[in-house]
Amino acid sequence: MTNRILEFLRNRREDGPCMVLDLDVVRANYASFARALPDTRVFYAVKANPAPEVLALLARLGSCFDCASVVEIEQALAAGASPDRISFGNTIKKERDILRAFELGVRLYAVDCEAEVEKVARAAPGAKVFCRMLCDGAGAEWPLSRKFGCAPAMAPRVLELAHRLGLEAHGLSFHVGSQQRNPRMWNLALKSAAGVFKELAERGISLQMVNLGGGFPTQYLKRVSAVRTYGDAIFRALRRHFGNRIPETIVEPGRGMVGNAGVIEAEVVLISKKSDDDQVKWVYLDIGKFNGLAETMDEMIRYPIRTDFDSDPREPCVLAGPTCDSVDVLYEKEPYWLPVSLEIGAKVLIEGTGAYTTTYSAVGFNGFPPLKSYVI
Ligand SMILES: *Cc1c(COP(=O)(O)O)cnc(C)c1O
Repeated sequence: MTNRILEFLRNRREDGPCMVLDLDVVRANYASFARALPDTRVFYAVKANPAPEVLALLARLGSCFDCASVVEIEQALAAGASPDRISFGNTIKKERDILRAFELGVRLYAVDCEAEVEKVARAAPGAKVFCRMLCDGAGAEWPLSRKFGCAPAMAPRVLELAHRLGLEAHGLSFHVGSQQRNPRMWNLALKSAAGVFKELAERGISLQMVNLGGGFPTQYLKRVSAVRTYGDAIFRALRRHFGNRIPETIVEPGRGMVGNAGVIEAEVVLISKKSDDDQVKWVYLDIGKFNGLAETMDEMIRYPIRTDFDSDPREPCVLAGPTCDSVDVLYEKEPYWLPVSLEIGAKVLIEGTGAYTTTYSAVGFNGFPPLKSYVI
């Protein structure tokens, strides 16, 4: 929460929920990453928040961009990034999209299996590829599970094929799971990476790069360590497993770069009980799972919520969104403690909502418009 955001909301006249993002916070976050990992290039994960102002600021600051689609590549280019600062980091790409990215000048691609290597070799001849390895995501509040990456034991074969097909077998990547609260989770992945480097070196292929992925947390309700602590833990793990031959490294922060820069202002639409002896109140907001708060799925991400009544006693509430879909409940298994004096019509501020909100918002489900976003 910043004074600039509060000031903006005081003067806002439009109705409906909105997300306000303060670029000064993004600038400070970028500086923290640069300081915490001084020898590591930053590839901002565009999907976390692709607002043109965010991309333009990061491009000016010298950031590179991790893109998952041709549209994201075009957004990064439009923001002022040259193609050599863009990676096509999705392991699941149509061959014609790889071709389009290649035409746009992109030369760095993620793969995690032989079929994808074959596509890249045909559509982007001579490009650099890195192989994504599976990582179990333990310790992450938003794990990325098994969808991306191959077992470390398979990575040498994938990269050897790339080499044989005329691509540059450039390195490895992994993602320790989003909102990763344990800075030591990079250690095991780096151990596997060092093993793959060694195995390929014995076959005459020298990898250059380790992509450390995203996962850096933002502050929600539970305390998280500063990015500095993550930088230190990662550096120690690199030393432990690569000795004095530390490879080139990159990171792809998304949430950690923009999460704490955004605040959602929403309104209480209704407060009710389901029966006379109901122990919890139901509080319905004008924002829910379909217009910005999708990450409350399974109650995984718990956002801090501020109200004008925060000095009053609190009681457990079920918090729900406004749509007529019963999955549109934010917190119920673990009720949310809200002030007893909270009223219908009151505004609430939901903090830490700069990442994975605006673009997770459905277009017009139940007639609710997509989440409005202001970048200041
Ligand atoms: C989503 C994603 C990221 C960003 O992850 P955060 O946890 O938000 O930092 C980084 N890299 C890849 C490949 C991704 O898919």
